[in-house]
Amino acid sequence: MGWTGLKAAVLAGGGCRIEGELPPGAVARSTAGPGAGGDGAVFFSRGGRRIRIPLGSGGPARLIVHEDGRAELSCGGERADGRLEPVGLHCPRQAFVTVSESCVFDCVYCRVPGCRGARKTVGEIVALVESVAGSVDAIALTSGVAVSVEEEEEYVCRVVEALRGFDLPIGVSIFPTLATPARLHALGVAEVKFNLETATPELFAAHCPGLPYETVREALADSVPLFGRGHVFSNVLVGLGETDGELDRCVDGLVALGVVPVLRPLTPAAGCRNLPRPTPERLVRAARHLSRALDRAGLDPSGALSMCGACTGCDLAAWRDL
Ligand code: SF4
Ligand code: SF4
Repeated sequence: MGWTGLKAAVLAGGGCRIEGELPPGAVARSTAGPGAGGDGAVFFSRGGRRIRIPLGSGGPARLIVHEDGRAELSCGGERADGRLEPVGLHCPRQAFVTVSESCVFDCVYCRVPGCRGARKTVGEIVALVESVAGSVDAIALTSGVAVSVEEEEEYVCRVVEALRGFDLPIGVSIFPTLATPARLHALGVAEVKFNLETATPELFAAHCPGLPYETVREALADSVPLFGRGHVFSNVLVGLGETDGELDRCVDGLVALGVVPVLRPLTPAAGCRNLPRPTPERLVRAARHLSRALDRAGLDPSGALSMCGACTGCDLAAWRDL
């Protein structure tokens, strides 16, 4: 299966043995996403495709690193030659900033509430973006919920206003209110990602207590006419107990709205630390279903500008990895 099999095996394996010295600038520290609060990660890339490889955890993958940045990655009987990519902030080619590193909600799978981090000031965020602005193609913002969903949206809008001067596309992924799509669009935001997280409303209620599933769906539907098809995304975790049929129906429902699902393999953490990771076979099957659904709908995410749709390090992206 070549690249697809290698990436699926690495994502399902959850870790890597590294041999050799990591070059400077290759390690990303994360305060959101699968690596929140972890030991950091490196990005292996080949021909415009990339894999985020977490550090500090044993796993079946093996990465041999050479001084000049060349690297060989092997896992599950597959191997590839490539390079380690330098990181902007959090991931390659982007200034991806977590605004508030804490959350008043307590989604079962999420590490952010446990991070109990601070909220960055607008000035701190501008300085962070400034520090990498010459080497990135986009700015991305995500956030926990420091006080309330409404207050966080208000604050992130202030951050967006302060970042407009960089003249880079801005992607935003926060928990939305029904007003969020129009507000972000009016500020010139290029892309949004509102995460449905689970394949069914029942799984959402069980894993995201106190948060409204329908608001996320409505915000996604409202976003497509504003930001355009291929520029509205939603993470859906694979491995929370959903069946393949439920996952496929969720994918089909999002694609029917013009929303691009990002199928994110579960990282067993927080309250889900005892769940198994999804198998490589399951990840490939789900990505193939997504690929067919995107084709049928004429929905092309390959022009993604920011966030996970452009990075694709953590997921088997149907538009890049198959
Ligand atoms: S709303 Fe849920 S998923 Fe988002 S940061 Fe808070 S706990 Fe995590
Ligand atoms: S795919 Fe998304 S969460 Fe993963 S490293 Fe890239 S931007 Fe971060």
